[in-house]
This record gives sequence, C-alpha cells and structure tokens, in this order.
Amino acid sequence: VTTSPDLGNIAKVIGGDKISVISLYKGNQDPHVIEPRPSMVIAVKNADLLIVIGMDLDMWVNSLIEASKNSKVLKGASGYLDASAEINKLEVPSGKVDMSMGDVHIYGNPHYQTDPCNGKVMASEIYKKLCELMPESKDYFTKNYNDYIQKLDSAIQKWDEMMKPYQGLKIVVYHDSWVYFIEHFGLIQTGTIEPKPSIPPSASYIVSLVEKMKNEKIKIIIIEPYQDIEAAKKIAAMTGAKIVVFPQSVGGLPGEDSYINMFEINIQNFINALK
Ligand SMILES: [Zn+2]
Repeated sequence: VTTSPDLGNIAKVIGGDKISVISLYKGNQDPHVIEPRPSMVIAVKNADLLIVIGMDLDMWVNSLIEASKNSKVLKGASGYLDASAEINKLEVPSGKVDMSMGDVHIYGNPHYQTDPCNGKVMASEIYKKLCELMPESKDYFTKNYNDYIQKLDSAIQKWDEMMKPYQGLKIVVYHDSWVYFIEHFGLIQTGTIEPKPSIPPSASYIVSLVEKMKNEKIKIIIIEPYQDIEAAKKIAAMTGAKIVVFPQSVGGLPGEDSYINMFEINIQNFINALK
C-alpha cells in the first residue's frame, strides 16, 4: 500500500507481478487533506509494506495504521518505508517551528516528487525495500529497477532540453508545491496565491499579488486540479497571465497514468500555454 499514486506507480513498475499495489489517494485529490475511509483501513490491515511520502504530507495515514492494528507497517517496522529519507529536502525551517507558518510544510516542503530526479530517489528506496522483504526476487526487481532508471533518465534529458528556453522564467503558483520542479528546471517562483501553504488569500493579499505580477510581467500561473480555479481566473484576468493545470501526482489529468506520463503532459501543457 502506498499513500501517493506516484509511489504506487513506481512500486508497481519495480515490483511487477510479484506485488499488488493499492494507493490511498488519487492524483486529483489534495494530498494534505485525505479523509480516512474504512476501505483504507482494510487496505493497510492487509499490507505487507506501507510506503509514505513523509515530511507530514500524508500524516493522515497515522490514524489508518493505528486503526489497522497491523504491526508489520508500524513506523520503524520493516514493512514501513518513508520515501523522503534520502531526499535532499527544500524549505526546511532552520528556527523554531510554529503555527504562524501555516499548518502544513512545517518540516520542509514535502512536494519533492515534482522534481523528476527525485523519482529516481523514490525508485531506489522502493527497490531496496522490496529486495529486503523478498530477497528471492532480487534479480527480477534489479532488472525492473535498472530499466526504469534508464527510461526515467532519458525522459529527464528530453524534458531538460524542452524546458531549457524557459530558464529564468518567473511564475506564480497556487500552493507552494513546485519548489523542487522550479529548482530542477531553473524557473523562478515570484509568488503564491496562497499567502502560506493551505491558507486562502485575503482580498488585500490578492491586490498586492496582482501588483507584483504586473510589475514582474508574470505570464503563467500553475494550479493543481483541486485548487480554487475561480480565484486563479480572477487573478489571471487582472494580470493577463495564463493558467496551467499541473497535477503533482499520477492520475491528475487524463493520460497521466504514470509518473513519467505525468511530467510528459505537464511539461507539454506548460510549453503550450507560453506559446
Ligand atoms: Zn503542500
């Protein structure tokens, strides 16, 4: 069982027919606020391995672990994998953590899967864990893992080439989900529609954001499928910026049926919006 569908997709590619995978949310849902359901408790109860994004993004899974009474997937047990362990984390607060920062992202920015290179880190963590739990299938996992890294590497090379002309482009995003994407592709985040992660904007905040966007000549606003598109549309109308719907997880748009296809479509939509 994985929380995120990205982890689910990568696990399935590496695990192949040796494993079955259930992901607890879909790409068109806000990962911060998933409502636990009885079917999820049953999935966790039957799991041999639970893979989470970590950094508190999917902290709602803790109540599922507790309700499932499955000791195999308790934090610290061999059937629990926090995929963020080896990630180079961004926006980790250096001082004291408090609620004035908003109630999410208090341990750093948890949306690391938006950098496709972090997909390789996620794959490596999953590969190691599958080999540990099912050593008899190690050769099979190794082949699938190597094939996947090769495929992802050549896709990244292509995306880097496609995004090269946009290096230094200033963008505005709805939620602070894209710092890893932005860093990878050399973009600049000029502002967020939410003043703090998961805090809706006030009228006066929007006025100052619009002013800033006009001054900086922002051409593009990135929004995820479950965010307030009407708010984004108003800001777009006042500034002339275009809105691109950018899922951060597999399944957020039609055709985004894998981690690789998600970037493929997101990047194409990004470039089309700027043409
Ligand atoms: Zn967030």
